[in-house]
Amino acid sequence: MKQSQNYKFWFATGSQDLYGDECLRKVAEHSQKIVKELNATGKLPFEIVCRPTLIDQASIRRTFNEANNDSECAGVITWMHTFSPAKMWIIGLQEYKKPLCHLHTQFNEEIPYDTIDMDFMNENQSAHGDREYGHIVSRMGIDRKIIVGHWTDPEVVEQLAGWMRTAIGVMESSHIRVCRFGDNMNNVAVTEGDKVEAQIKFGWEIDHYNVNDLVEVVNAVSQGDVDTLTEEYYQNYQILLEGRDPAEFRRHVSEQARIEIGTEKFCEDGNYQAVVTHFGMLGGLKQLPGLAMQRMMEKGYGFGAEGDWKTAAMVRLMKIMTAGKKDAKGTSFMEDYTYNFVKGKEGILEAHMLEVCPTIADGPVSIKVCPLSMGNREDPARLVFTSKTGSGIACSLVDMGNHFRLIISVVDCKKTEKPMPKLPVATAFWTPQPDLKTGAAAWILAGGAHHTAFTYDLSAEQMIDWADAMGIETVLIDNHTDLYQLKNELRWNSALYR
Ligand code: MN
Repeated sequence: MKQSQNYKFWFATGSQDLYGDECLRKVAEHSQKIVKELNATGKLPFEIVCRPTLIDQASIRRTFNEANNDSECAGVITWMHTFSPAKMWIIGLQEYKKPLCHLHTQFNEEIPYDTIDMDFMNENQSAHGDREYGHIVSRMGIDRKIIVGHWTDPEVVEQLAGWMRTAIGVMESSHIRVCRFGDNMNNVAVTEGDKVEAQIKFGWEIDHYNVNDLVEVVNAVSQGDVDTLTEEYYQNYQILLEGRDPAEFRRHVSEQARIEIGTEKFCEDGNYQAVVTHFGMLGGLKQLPGLAMQRMMEKGYGFGAEGDWKTAAMVRLMKIMTAGKKDAKGTSFMEDYTYNFVKGKEGILEAHMLEVCPTIADGPVSIKVCPLSMGNREDPARLVFTSKTGSGIACSLVDMGNHFRLIISVVDCKKTEKPMPKLPVATAFWTPQPDLKTGAAAWILAGGAHHTAFTYDLSAEQMIDWADAMGIETVLIDNHTDLYQLKNELRWNSALYR
């Protein structure tokens, strides 16, 4: 999946010129060692570059501005090895525009009981140097990630790695361009939103086309290309004819291959990374794009159905944030469909009309061709599968009229008790934390949508940090959720976001 840059992160250590050259030499040596060893862990998704120690206002301002102007720099990790008077950080911080991390660590893990003296104390005083720096960042109201602990601690490394992916989400958000074929579904409220505000807040460009603009490109795809991709489908997926004529089945499948090639060309030509369709606005398309959109998502495109551009952009965002992650389990557009209310087996069956991303599939992926009860087109081909088990997050971005709210539900994905042989769509099944009743009530209280952007590969913490960086409200629903507290939180937030 293409990001716009080969990103790197800068490590900027703060100090001052009060301590003498010998101390500053050690500060620089320690910073270089920390960076070298962090890079050597193999646990960080991006390289850290060690920058010269910052000792005065001029060097701080210059470094932050260089970070702004270096297109490869995705963020600055700051750490005060010694005391670094924070007034000299003000102008640099005022001018800095990228993600900021405050790694609150120190070079030594343990107090050197036998040898510690005042020289050591003066050289290793991040416990109070970082407080001075933290104060000015808080006073200036600047959002940043604070990570506390020794730099060799695996939890610290994991948090840093997680923040790096959040920072990439912040950097790449402004490169997300959503291509809408048709408008939002009439009368539906939650998929609507202020596109101008979305561009101001998130940087998203959300364009609209007549679906027949796409149809022209789809129809222009060569039969040879369609045949090649159809053959690829037949190699990669199981074919479930279920009594249909093989030739007729293949023709239906090849229509989706044609739509996939055409849509991808349209997106590449127009530099779009997310797509929105609408079953009620298909123009000259012969089928609702099903298999085609599933494949687009698998390639890293964002997708939203029924004109849902907010979820399409979120799916794209979350795919960028998880790109290249080792052992990734997948990210998809999703919809809450049907409940299982049986005691002890509670959960939500997740699916969509067709469009669920096969990156979340567990086991074989098959193609079916079945009628669609909505719309008036040919029976569309679609990929069917069940999804992986484990923890995940379902995210819904809603426009509350005066601000955006990101609702994050931590969910435990399970297998359904029994197979569902008559259901012709891909599914997932999950129980929201802390339990179905509380989780669903909390989601509804918060105004969450039926569509979600779902992933196994990001933590709630990462999405909260992203939303904080964007300056929007977050509502977290997890094992700590208490409905009484949540109601109060929503009331308090409504006073803040008005
Ligand atoms: Mn839907």
